[in-house]
Amino acid sequence: MSRVAYVNGRYVPFAEARVHIEDRGYQLGDGVYEVCEIRDGAFVDERRHLDRLGRSLSALRIEMPMPLSSLRYVLRETVRRNRVTDGLLYLQVTRGVARRDHGFPETPVKPALVVTVRALDRKKIAASARAGISVITLPDDRWGRVDIKTIGLLPNVLARQAAKDAGAKDAWFADEEGLITEGASSNAWIVTREGVLLTRPSSNRILTGITLTVIKEVAASLQIKVEERAFTVAEAKAAAEAFLSSATQTVMPVVAIDGIPIGSGEPGPVTLRLREAFHRQAEIGPRIV
Ligand code: PMP
Repeated sequence: MSRVAYVNGRYVPFAEARVHIEDRGYQLGDGVYEVCEIRDGAFVDERRHLDRLGRSLSALRIEMPMPLSSLRYVLRETVRRNRVTDGLLYLQVTRGVARRDHGFPETPVKPALVVTVRALDRKKIAASARAGISVITLPDDRWGRVDIKTIGLLPNVLARQAAKDAGAKDAWFADEEGLITEGASSNAWIVTREGVLLTRPSSNRILTGITLTVIKEVAASLQIKVEERAFTVAEAKAAAEAFLSSATQTVMPVVAIDGIPIGSGEPGPVTLRLREAFHRQAEIGPRIV
């Protein structure tokens, strides 16, 4: 089955998908993106992802590339043409193609839209979740508006690579006070020894994950106490459990931080309950493929 990408109005074979060299995403990182899980042939939390896309775009004063109903059609059609039942949808909107200049184009240009779909190996992710993953911590050297989901991800790229180089799976950023902000492409959580679930409150220092928002609801339904407060690296290392959340990994147990085992050194019971219950709380759309 050959892959198909949607690029500025056309469905094209993946190998031939191209954007212009003066696309402002390519030149300046002037764009935003979303990643949505596809599970059993349906979108998970599509509405919330599209709402956040709208917020990211308006923060950068980029227009929606098309009306929402048309966008939703394009997303479905891209999934359909790729026949992916378990995987992820990636969508990117940039300010468009214009002569390179830092300021916005004086004559407005059409925002550029790219959509791709990729299959994910659910069994492999589940195996990872059974074992748990390790993370390292790093100083958060990103810009001050990481609440906007921009494609400018260089510090995240370097953090993920530093984790790989250290033999870990991912990296968690810590601010100047030693408080964890979030992961390189995820939100960070711990369960204290008192059984309280902690995650950092929304601010311009984190991207408020859609998965994070749903997990708060899952925790409420399971009567797990949630406190939205920042926690230090030291608190995380002394926690009973830790995990990260993202659309592609949902709830992923973290069993070591900077080489220190967390709790028993195995995925914790609260973490696993949240993981197990997640898709019952998420908004699952109608089946597409
Ligand atoms: N923070 C960052 C920096 C991310 O890149 C992501 C994943 N895109 C998240 C948090 C988690 O967001 P979501 O749950 O919506 O995938």
